[in-house]
Amino acid sequence: MVADLSAGNPPRSLASENGLPAGTPSRGVLSGGTSTDDTSSRDVSSGGVRTGHSVPSEAARQVFLQSDVRAMQAALAQAELAGANGEVPVGAVVLDGSGKVVGVGFNRCIGDRDPTAHAEIVALRMAAAAVGNYRLPGASLYVTLEPCAMCMGAMLHARLARVVYGARDPKTGACGSVLDVHASPVNHQTIVQAGLLEPECGQLLRSFFGKRRADAKRTKSSLSGS
Ligand SMILES: [Zn+2]
Repeated sequence: MVADLSAGNPPRSLASENGLPAGTPSRGVLSGGTSTDDTSSRDVSSGGVRTGHSVPSEAARQVFLQSDVRAMQAALAQAELAGANGEVPVGAVVLDGSGKVVGVGFNRCIGDRDPTAHAEIVALRMAAAAVGNYRLPGASLYVTLEPCAMCMGAMLHARLARVVYGARDPKTGACGSVLDVHASPVNHQTIVQAGLLEPECGQLLRSFFGKRRADAKRTKSSLSGS
């Protein structure tokens, strides 16, 4: 199955809860990854960091393909859908081993009243249903924000080949920012790459939380003035 990226998921609801302070996603040793033209002979995994190894470092700065950029742009479009619904704007897509989109998702915890409804989990569930297997060997997941421990654990269980994220999450990031779940000595190794379209991914979050703070300030001042 090929997911329709333009349609996204049906609208859900309301305010957000991630609590990322303004400006925080911009931090990150791998921010601003570069992209290249598609070249079939290029080894896209050479800059990756495998589980069981250390946290991504400057030395492992990534080289991304245009296909990676397109996938992250699709994840960004999902993130915008989340933001439009009042959810923290995080989006994800899953590509199978041939590069076909088999899952998309955006953060929908509030609308679904589901603490596990992070973008990655939503996209993983769609992908697993699409391929008819709870394991997704050879698949890649692109997400706009560094995965949390729950999502990274789920992605290891799904046996993804590769995870690519945009902005770092200094609050709950489990790929080096707060925890090192990706580097745990588990029985499956997943390549983790950071910093693809980090400025765009981070800016979406900063704009969202900036607007939310402004709205809260307006509400407070209007209440105190009445
Ligand atoms: Zn998560």
